[in-house]
Amino acid sequence: DQIKNLLELDKKHYLHPTSSLRQHQESGPKRIFTEGKGVYLTDVNGGRYIDALASLWNVNVGHGRKELGEAASEQMGKLAYSSSFNNFSHESVIRLSEKLANITPGDLNVFFYTSGGSESNDTAFKLVRHYWKLKGQPQKKKIIGLERAYHGITIGATSATGIQQFQNMTNSLAPDFLHAAAHKTNCELGDKNDPDFARSIRGIIENEGPEKIAAVIVEPIQGAGGVIIPPNGYLEAVRELCDQYGILMIADEVICGFGRTGKMFGVDHWNVIPDVMCMAKGITSGYIPLGAVAITERLRDSLAEVSDDVLFHGFTYSGHPAACAVALKNIEIIEKENLPAHAGKMEKELKKGFEYLTENHSLVTKSRAKGLIGAFELFEDREKGIPFKPEKMAAQKLVEECLSRGLIVRAVTFGGTNIIALSPPLIINKEEIEKVISIFSDAIQEVEKSLKL
Ligand code: PLP
Repeated sequence: DQIKNLLELDKKHYLHPTSSLRQHQESGPKRIFTEGKGVYLTDVNGGRYIDALASLWNVNVGHGRKELGEAASEQMGKLAYSSSFNNFSHESVIRLSEKLANITPGDLNVFFYTSGGSESNDTAFKLVRHYWKLKGQPQKKKIIGLERAYHGITIGATSATGIQQFQNMTNSLAPDFLHAAAHKTNCELGDKNDPDFARSIRGIIENEGPEKIAAVIVEPIQGAGGVIIPPNGYLEAVRELCDQYGILMIADEVICGFGRTGKMFGVDHWNVIPDVMCMAKGITSGYIPLGAVAITERLRDSLAEVSDDVLFHGFTYSGHPAACAVALKNIEIIEKENLPAHAGKMEKELKKGFEYLTENHSLVTKSRAKGLIGAFELFEDREKGIPFKPEKMAAQKLVEECLSRGLIVRAVTFGGTNIIALSPPLIINKEEIEKVISIFSDAIQEVEKSLKL
């Protein structure tokens, strides 16, 4: 009865983020979760699920870490809130900034804080535009993002996002955001004969004029777009391109950061140092909302040099003491338990599992993984490269079959794709990965039956 009551109240009063409204009106919430421990979630009916998406690609240290709650509680008991406006400060934000400076690459040593990834990206866009304006180039304000990129949900971040479905809801995007085809390495290296040259970052810069481009923003690995890993050489080429044309490079590390890909940050795989790096999610493993923007000391110094004006940008919760305390403790766990290296090791297990699925199920193809972010795709005929028609709902069906067997994963169906994405907590072990693969195998069999393959 209590469960029924919760379902009814949810149906009546809760507008769910990124969810089907019609489905919610018809059947209410799909599951109501009550507890989390390690890679597992439990729902009100006692059902147990492997959270193979780390909820929203963010619960990096796994569920149920008491010490993170304790860190928040201790900080709240001492100083629950204090503003950082007007150059006030407090200890946990200072300690976190020092820690981040130690783990972020190069001279990314100065940090601004937000409550999440969208705010971090919006902050990055404002900072780079502010920088060029102060440098006497107010027309240098366009931001180039990639197709299929996801940068968040505020108007600015949605405008940088390269996924139509998210853009549609704004009805009117923010101006001065451009989109380039993703990962056209040859174009970025200067191959003007490539048919996609005009759509590439280099093509767009040359066409618009570099004096109009403030920054390029890239996810080291595209997450929400379907776990799209760039070819080697791509991020380096983007960095070179930005240097060549005097454009700032923003890396959106919201998913990749804090060990997800097998290194502390995604850019670390390619030794690329962006000018601005946006973080969120794994910075607290989702235990409390926090985002951060790293900028280089050079960038901070030149901002300070050219202007004695106030930086008119700040959120009430910029540098929230409890959030910073949790982030510090979370990073301590990530380091102490060597989670980036563990994610790197588990990549092999994940790939082995994907190979098993590919060998045993004719619809599985194009699997990939870097650390503990991975995906595979479903094709009607993989040999001939014929995709499933969207109305067959192949990926959505598989995700539902997995859910009913106690496995949470994500379907990415933008642009007619049938991608199954996963990014489990970084503490997942070999046996748990084998369990994920075994559930996948059963669920895929059911989908094969229902699609009469
Ligand atoms: N950037 C990337 C790469 C993301 O994956 C996300 C969220 O999924 C965001 C930004 C937005 O972060 P938030 O939802 O915390 O605003």
